[in-house]
Amino acid sequence: MMSKTGTFVKDLYCPRCDNRQSCDDAATLCPCGSPLLVDYDYSAAAAELTIESLSPSTGSMWKYAPLLPVRDESNIVSLGEGGTPLLKSVSIGKELGLPELYFKDESSNPTGSFKARGLSAAISKARELGIRKVTIPTAGNAGSAVAAYAARAGLDALVIMPKDVPEAFLIDADYHGAEIELVDGTIKDCGIRAAERAQQEGWFSLATLKEPYRIEGKKTMGYELAAEFDYSLPDVIIYPTGGGTGLIGMWKAFDEMEKLGWIGGKRPRMVSVQAEGCAPIARAFASGSEYAEEWENPSTVAAGLRVPSAVGDFLMLRAIRESRGTAVAVSDDALMRDCRVLARLEGIFAAPEGGASLACLRQLLDSGFVKPHERVVVFVTGSGYKYLDVLKDGN
Ligand SMILES: *Cc1c(COP(=O)(O)O)cnc(C)c1O
Repeated sequence: MMSKTGTFVKDLYCPRCDNRQSCDDAATLCPCGSPLLVDYDYSAAAAELTIESLSPSTGSMWKYAPLLPVRDESNIVSLGEGGTPLLKSVSIGKELGLPELYFKDESSNPTGSFKARGLSAAISKARELGIRKVTIPTAGNAGSAVAAYAARAGLDALVIMPKDVPEAFLIDADYHGAEIELVDGTIKDCGIRAAERAQQEGWFSLATLKEPYRIEGKKTMGYELAAEFDYSLPDVIIYPTGGGTGLIGMWKAFDEMEKLGWIGGKRPRMVSVQAEGCAPIARAFASGSEYAEEWENPSTVAAGLRVPSAVGDFLMLRAIRESRGTAVAVSDDALMRDCRVLARLEGIFAAPEGGASLACLRQLLDSGFVKPHERVVVFVTGSGYKYLDVLKDGN
C-alpha cells in the first residue's frame, strides 16, 4: 500500500468565474482563460492540523505536504527544495537606516533558484496523474528545474528557451538529458512553440500558471516566512516579478494560514519589482488597469524578468492592490550594481533579479513608501552562479 501524504486537497477553482474542476485529471487553464487554483478542505485542516504537527524532520518544503496537492508519498519528487535561509542584513540595513531588513535567500535551492519549489510540486503531481512527458517555455531557471526534476521522476523533458539565455541554463538542461529547443525571441515566443509541440507531440506544458500546481510549490515561501517570523508577517515583501507565481502563491498562502487560524488578518504590502526594459505589471499598476498590456521589445539582463505578458497578470495586480503594495521598475544598471553590493556587503551571490529587489528597496525608501521602522523582506530569487556570463561584464 502506498503511504498517504495526508493532504487536504479538494479540487480546482477558477478565481475569475468560480468554475470548479477535479484535481485528479490533468488540468490546464479554466475554459474562461484564467489560471486555475487549488482548493483545500480548510475547515477539516483547521480542525486536524497544527503547526506543531508538521513534520519537523522534513527540511524541504514537503514539510507542508498536507497543504500541497499530492496524495501519495511515493509520487513526491524532491531534491531538497525549500527550507531556505532568511538572513538578517548585517550591513545594508544599517547603511539604509532600516534595522529590520531581511533577505529570503532562494539561491540555495536545487538548480539554483526558487523555480525548484514550483517544479517539484508540478512534476510530483504530473507523476501522480500519469503524465509521461513535460515541456516548458522558459527564460532559464524553470528549464533547469524541469530538466532536473523530470530526470529524477523518469519523465521526458523538452525545454524551450530564447537562444540568448545565459549559458548555464543550456548546459545543465542538457546534462539532465532534456531535449532543448532554442527560439529566436522571448519566453512568449517559446510559449507559442511549447503549445504547438504539446498539440503535435503530446507534451504536457508546465508553462507558468497554465497548470495549477507550480504555484502550490511557490506558496511554501509564504508559509516559511510566517514560521520564520513566529506567525507575525513582515510589513513589506519585495519580489522580482516575471510570471508572478511567487507573488500570487505567497498571497494565497497568507489567506490559507488565516483560514487555518495560524495568523490574523494583517498582511504585508506586496511589492512587485520589474526591469525598466520590461515592466508590464508596473505600468498596469500605475495606470490602474485590471490587466497588463503586453510589453513591446522586452529587454533586460535579468532573464527571469523578461516576461512581456503573463496569464496571471490580473491575479498579481489584485494581490498588489489588496495588500496596498506597489509595483516598481528599476534600471539594469541599478540592479547590476546592487548584485555587487549584495555580494560584497552580505555575502550573498545573487542572480540579477535579486539585485533588482535591493534596487527597488532603495527607491521605496526614497519615496517614503517604506518607513525606517518597518520590517522588510527582500527576495533573492536565484543564484549568481547561473549568470556568470552576465555578471562578468557587470559594473
Ligand atoms: C523566474 C524567476 C523570477 C520571476 O518569478 P515569477 O514567480 O515567475 O514571477 C525571478 N527571479 C528569478 C531568478 C527567476 O528565475
